[in-house]
Amino acid sequence: MQEHADGCHVTDTDGNTYIDYALGYGPLLLGHTPGPVLDAVRRALDLGLRTGGVTAGEAELAERVAECVPSAEVTTFLSSGTEAVQLALRIARSETARTRVVKFRGHYHGWADSMHVANAPGSDDPTTTGQDPLAAENVILLDWGDLKALNETLDDTIAAVITEPAAVNAGCFEPEPGFLEGLRRATTANGTMLIFDEIITGFRLGLGGAQGRYGVNPDLTVLGKALGAGLPISAVTGSRAAMRPVASGRMLHRGTYNGNPLSVASGNACLKQLANSADVLYPRMEAQVTRLAAGIREAAERLAAPVHVNHVGTCLQVFVSPSPVERLTDTIGLDKEAVLELSGLLVERGVMTLPRGLMYLSVEHTEADIDDTIWAFESALDAFTHG
Ligand code: PMP
Repeated sequence: MQEHADGCHVTDTDGNTYIDYALGYGPLLLGHTPGPVLDAVRRALDLGLRTGGVTAGEAELAERVAECVPSAEVTTFLSSGTEAVQLALRIARSETARTRVVKFRGHYHGWADSMHVANAPGSDDPTTTGQDPLAAENVILLDWGDLKALNETLDDTIAAVITEPAAVNAGCFEPEPGFLEGLRRATTANGTMLIFDEIITGFRLGLGGAQGRYGVNPDLTVLGKALGAGLPISAVTGSRAAMRPVASGRMLHRGTYNGNPLSVASGNACLKQLANSADVLYPRMEAQVTRLAAGIREAAERLAAPVHVNHVGTCLQVFVSPSPVERLTDTIGLDKEAVLELSGLLVERGVMTLPRGLMYLSVEHTEADIDDTIWAFESALDAFTHG
């Protein structure tokens, strides 16, 4: 059990300290204890726990988002990624007066019934018991990267295509060259809105997220996680035209805690810090991820361990697989228990990953942390492969 945290390190109740790459499922891009963020939240606390109604801080945060994210002009705030996806879909349906939505297999867009399907590429089913089987009736499932299938599917019933622009949840896959451009062309031609779910990639694949990195602008973008630096906030943003249903008030959008002042204060401090030092922070973090990946690969090869890694931006995925995992469909049938076992061996050696092998970097990780992590992998892979 974790007791406290500092920078990129967490300490458990027995006093053991770990290098943390789980980072609260991703939001802690600035680490566990970012000074300016904590100060801003403390100041906001002194103003009272008010919620509801637009604040100056919210307007400031919307401006900061517009400065960072290429397609952002108008932004509205919510509390979780799941909600923000729901709002983006509603905007698309309102704006296009159409109903159906395309989702890609293996992508994750939160746990609402309509989107919580086909989260693993091998199955089109709802992800858990208890979901309304009819909720996803208007969701069409396609394979990511298959532009031919998309073009055959698009018609005048499709309100939106939603995608993780880099498939981090499925294993840190970058889009194939031309795929996002193809999506953009096809959706525009069909009057369908293109939604980028940048809950993970936003501010993690660079200040401009995946759209900044790949140079393709969606109609709507969903943001969360890193935006709040650890406090609960999410956003839907887009061009003035795309956000018309919200801005005009023609479509209802509710939520008691939308844009709550503590999360907004955190978001403002976070984006200010990232924008001020983006030129230094992102290249450094990406170089560290690249070095970590190389270290793991080298150790796996030397120890003949069936382990491969993918990485994109500040995210890295460890797979247990006899061969490299190059595309999303290569993950079908992979041994998830083995990844869990490896992550347990890493914990014993002072390194915390997400149990499914996903690792996030923060600005707080140092070269020494990367060295220690590579050492922990060498030892864990040895134990994993040779007992
Ligand atoms: N979309 C993506 C791409 C995500 O990774 C997540 C969360 N992991 C969500 C949506 C849902 O966000 P939340 O957990 O804040 O509801």
